[in-house]
Amino acid sequence: MLTDLTLAEASAGLAARRFSAAELTEAHLAAIAALNPRLNAYITLAADSARAEAADADAARARGEAGPLAGIPLAIKDLFCTAGLRTTAASRILGNFIPPYESTVTANLRRAGAVFLGKANLDEFAMGSSNMTSAFGPVENPWKPRGDAAAKLVPGGSSGGSAAAVAARLALGATGTDTGGSIRQPASFCGIAGIKPTYGRCSRWGIVAFASSLDQAGPFARTVQDCAMLLGAMAGHDPKDSTSADRPVPDFAAACSRSLRGMRIGIPREYRAPGMSGEIEALWQRGLDWLRAAGAEPVEVSLPHTKYGLATYYIVAPAECSSNLARYDGVRFGLREDGADLTELYERTRAAGFGDEVRRRILIGTYVLSAGYYDAYYLKAQKVRALIHRDFTEAFAKVDALLTPTAPSAAFAQGANMDDPVQMYLNDVFTVPASMAGVPAMSVPAGLDSDGLPLGLQVIGRPFDEETVFAVAAAIEREAGFDAQPAIRAGVAP
Ligand code: GLN
Repeated sequence: MLTDLTLAEASAGLAARRFSAAELTEAHLAAIAALNPRLNAYITLAADSARAEAADADAARARGEAGPLAGIPLAIKDLFCTAGLRTTAASRILGNFIPPYESTVTANLRRAGAVFLGKANLDEFAMGSSNMTSAFGPVENPWKPRGDAAAKLVPGGSSGGSAAAVAARLALGATGTDTGGSIRQPASFCGIAGIKPTYGRCSRWGIVAFASSLDQAGPFARTVQDCAMLLGAMAGHDPKDSTSADRPVPDFAAACSRSLRGMRIGIPREYRAPGMSGEIEALWQRGLDWLRAAGAEPVEVSLPHTKYGLATYYIVAPAECSSNLARYDGVRFGLREDGADLTELYERTRAAGFGDEVRRRILIGTYVLSAGYYDAYYLKAQKVRALIHRDFTEAFAKVDALLTPTAPSAAFAQGANMDDPVQMYLNDVFTVPASMAGVPAMSVPAGLDSDGLPLGLQVIGRPFDEETVFAVAAAIEREAGFDAQPAIRAGVAP
């Protein structure tokens, strides 16, 4: 089936004219029509424009002008503004927002020839770890625990729609964003690969902002190589984002076949958290054995401030979100609920437009930034953030990359953890430190737990050394030989 191809295979098939971009897109649209009503991975479908883009890709190829992703059908997280195509951030407040502009990352993908199938579901404003906070309803993880076809699990979050779409073969790849783990944790829960590149590698321009000092775009795909191909097209300097890095974009795909011989891989001792599940611990150990077999040398390292990662993140991220979300006032964007005066208009619009989790974050954020508490919380958190960053700098003086589990558990049931935000935030315990430090980190599928659900391992690299991250993740992928498939996927739905 065309939907089962990897992105690299599909790209080769298109180049060899074994099938057309139009056929490849139709196959994905048919799979979406069959499965999206159940999985809810896409909020908005773009079937007509996708068909037109596929026809353009076929015509470009006939002229000998095909770009590197010509005719490749993708899902786009509904946090990237797409000109003329509704962009909701999974919030009621942007439920009717049609951007007049295109994000830089999606513009780069379009220039490479990609076809956009639609906009993928997410937690509202990318705040969450389960996709349960979307105003457009939850996403169902296409994986089922062994022997329990009726179970409904979360795909992770916030980029849960993107991850579920790729896992279920409703796209060859997808864009995501990662502020504290939103690419890596859903990749782990859905048995696919995903990378958060170095902060600044991809432009944030035109991405709905959550926490600007942490937000970073990155790709999802079913293989490490496919992620490398996508990131190569997404990345690059953008004068419109002053935090985007003016550095050349290396050949990430070529890095996937680099040898690990002589490489040193750090095992941060603080990630061996008390209460860690035996299965996750065993998988981590297996990951080390695989890397040793591939020629790398494991080294124990210390990241002493790891234990402050979550607490610091849940001050900095809400603080920045409370400021970023001040712009949704009913005047300039999206929803407006009229009031007797301006204050009432603001209050009614924001009360009707924001869901519970977003309100909680705005409240925490305004509190930690308020006079009197700023020094105690926000400033303190920024100081601890600098120490977390220093931990990584010191570790990378000794090792080339770090290996950790991606998440403390496999996918959980829809509705679990909903009445306990702190329990929900604990999902991010292994992903948040790399976000705070701005360093690249990738989740690669490494095995199944005793229920038959996928688990990922996380590879963390030096700033702007995504090439080593890809090399290490590709070695794990080869050694792990992970070939399990979700119960629900194109052509198969129990
Ligand atoms: N789960 C984390 C949060 O809720 C991370 C979200 C993200 O990376 N966008 O903030």
